[in-house]
Amino acid sequence: MFVIPKTARSWVNVDPTSHFSIQNLPFAILAPLGREVTLATAIGDFVVDITLLREAGLISEKQFPFLDSFADLTQEEFTELRRALFELLEESNPILRDNDILKMKALVPLHRARLLLPIKPTAFIDFYSGINHASNVGRMFRPDMPPLLPNYRHLPVAYNGRASSVVVSGTPIRRPHGQTKAADAESPTFGPTKELDFELEMGFYVGMPSAMGETVDIGVVKEHILGFVLVNDWSARDVQRWEYQPLGPFLAKSFGTSISPWVVLPDALEPFRVTRLEQDPPVLGHLQTSEPMAYDVHLEVKLKPAEQEDYATISATNANQLYWSFDQQLAHQASNGTPLGWGDLYGSGTISGTEEGTYGSLLELTWRGSKPVKVGNVERKFLEDGDSLILTGYCQGEGFRVGFGEVEGTILPA
Ligand code: MN
Repeated sequence: MFVIPKTARSWVNVDPTSHFSIQNLPFAILAPLGREVTLATAIGDFVVDITLLREAGLISEKQFPFLDSFADLTQEEFTELRRALFELLEESNPILRDNDILKMKALVPLHRARLLLPIKPTAFIDFYSGINHASNVGRMFRPDMPPLLPNYRHLPVAYNGRASSVVVSGTPIRRPHGQTKAADAESPTFGPTKELDFELEMGFYVGMPSAMGETVDIGVVKEHILGFVLVNDWSARDVQRWEYQPLGPFLAKSFGTSISPWVVLPDALEPFRVTRLEQDPPVLGHLQTSEPMAYDVHLEVKLKPAEQEDYATISATNANQLYWSFDQQLAHQASNGTPLGWGDLYGSGTISGTEEGTYGSLLELTWRGSKPVKVGNVERKFLEDGDSLILTGYCQGEGFRVGFGEVEGTILPA
């Protein structure tokens, strides 16, 4: 673990509201013009091409011979690479600071950089760890029963999702067709979803595998987590309602999942670790953790209706509203001996706060369509064709931020 001091500053001018302070230094895959893809980091308004730094001798070629995918590096090597980048970008170091030609080439303006899906996920698992979301959904769909099902406080509920439709921010999402049945109809029909929704989630990639048949102790499971992203788990609510029993969501979720391009390492989030929500009743021993991976991440959802030019914030909440921490999620997954795979992506489940305006889906924000969200002079119950949505999130330090950037998606017609 390498935690960058909160007093550190870069020679690159970083606005206090930038997600990419020198305390962050996340990783992404950059597709530079006319060159091979490369690992990159971010500082202020710039993306830093790490291969160019290596070619100039500023990053050890012996230590980092391959930099064209996340798979080239172990987690220790990511820590070492981040340490080397910190030293190059720190304000007192003249090596890159005073090399104008190399700076011009290696620092690409963020708004011009083409960032790819950081890791093509080998699996996508989606949890349901946002307790306020789970309670709201229970209240809406099972009004006569307790909002949470009996297992909720004993294990982190999840389902296996679809890895092949995970896409990077900026990829348009086509409105899916699906089978739905109106409550008063006798039989279902097939057509474009009328209840297209988003889900505000955090996610993490596994960076260290485990062997089949072996479990992973919760005390060491965090070593398997490479880093964190933001996740929009697009959902077709009308399809979901009809198909999900008894085996869970299937086509209502698998048409597309968007993630942010930056992988933020646990080291960067360590100063923002917070007490997890109290777990009552106490969880079983294999899920008990003394220093849970729960983080204080401000999360926001912004919507730009097709008719409008600007985004408006429609929700704001915090990742501290997760009932199950990330290490508990992964320890639960490994507890039956299934192998953890390098590149597996885990979503947290929708993160909602406790009051109106803090919910992580339109389903909740509009209370099943009964209270439309107003943006200027337009209303939305669910997403319309041409609507654009942005999820964003950051940790607030003293005078700096450690952020995830954005995950954007625009809805195409069916
Ligand atoms: Mn989800």
